[in-house]
Amino acid sequence: METPFPSRHAETICAHLGEDPSQHNGAVIPPIYQNSLFVLNTMEERFANYALQPNEEAVASGMSRHYDYTRVGNPTTDAAEAKIAALEGAEQARCFGSGMGAISAAVLSCIKAGSHVIAPHTTYGPTRQLLANYLPRFGVQTTFIDGSSPQEYAEAIRPETTLLYLESPSSILMRQQDLEAVAHIARKHGARTICDNSWATPIYQNPLAMGVDLVVHSATKYLGGHSDIVAGVVCGSRELMHPLIVNEGLTLGAILDPFSSWLLIRGLRTLPIRMQHHCQNAKKVAAMLEGHSQVRRIYFPGSNSDPQKELTARQLRGVSGLLSVELKKQGRAPSFALANALRYFGIGCSWGGFESLALASHHPAEAFTDGEGERWLVRLHIGLEHPDDLISDLQQALEKAALAG
Ligand SMILES: *Cc1c(COP(=O)(O)O)cnc(C)c1O
Repeated sequence: METPFPSRHAETICAHLGEDPSQHNGAVIPPIYQNSLFVLNTMEERFANYALQPNEEAVASGMSRHYDYTRVGNPTTDAAEAKIAALEGAEQARCFGSGMGAISAAVLSCIKAGSHVIAPHTTYGPTRQLLANYLPRFGVQTTFIDGSSPQEYAEAIRPETTLLYLESPSSILMRQQDLEAVAHIARKHGARTICDNSWATPIYQNPLAMGVDLVVHSATKYLGGHSDIVAGVVCGSRELMHPLIVNEGLTLGAILDPFSSWLLIRGLRTLPIRMQHHCQNAKKVAAMLEGHSQVRRIYFPGSNSDPQKELTARQLRGVSGLLSVELKKQGRAPSFALANALRYFGIGCSWGGFESLALASHHPAEAFTDGEGERWLVRLHIGLEHPDDLISDLQQALEKAALAG
């Protein structure tokens, strides 16, 4: 990215990029521009300034001379977007009112009536719902594949394929796709690629650098990091982002409100250190779980039982706090007992915040490639609590799970 901001280090980007206190009476925190409208002095000014293309210098300094209406652009949201774009190595980022707002905008920007899409079975449920059940209304079909081999993408390509969708790692089985290889296949065919990077965050994985066209995030998860906002973001080249912003962004209108943008900026400031702590905590918890007599296996990139070790080493610079546990004693009762017995883990479906969470869920045999049939998993989000507390909590809960059923 060509930016006057000199540092490429995530910590410094999160602390300072996109902000200029001198523009705001020295306020060290940018104000929340909680307004729908920006007024001008003259009609001439309006016509001279009306431009959707953000001014490079203005974005880098945190101020733009082209504000008009908050659905089009807002200075608080621009500061969050400037940071996330730099973290992902993107020319541009655009925030949306939720991860699904961002994902649906990105997907719609890559298809038209009659298009064909390829996506992994393990894709996040509502994204799968969009592809499998909503888009067929507009004549768009999706082929779902396992996705662990890039060859499956190549074999599923049809003349009308315009999008190869990726979510790596996925968020229950933590399955990965080979981003570089799939991006290469897509490019050869003239199709686009989108990668949901919510699990790894830009701290541990940069899909754009591996040739992927667009990166999407549920910023509700790690980017926000405090379980106090619902937000999403799409990142990519200016060439792809400009039409996406105009068509899917402004027209469909799922913008992020300025207050949530401000909370997102606050969350981003600590993203690098939070991710380091999630990574360290999760590795300690994973090591305990892998050696525990009640645990059959865990689903976690980088663990001893990681079936994609080579890909993990190539794509991920670190791991986040989301992993799944398969108990030796199968069935609903032991899995429920484990989640219910935990003291520091809330029972909840989200993840990426400061807090530890647990959720039991059942998966059919088709979800696995090992031929061992259906099973119950307990997904854990390893938060920022002290790892010793989380480990002893899990140990006592595993004892209770062993007695259940
Ligand atoms: C939560 C989630 C989303 C959707 O994000 P929302 O902010 O809830 O709309 C998308 N992808 C993944 C992997 C998620 O976990």
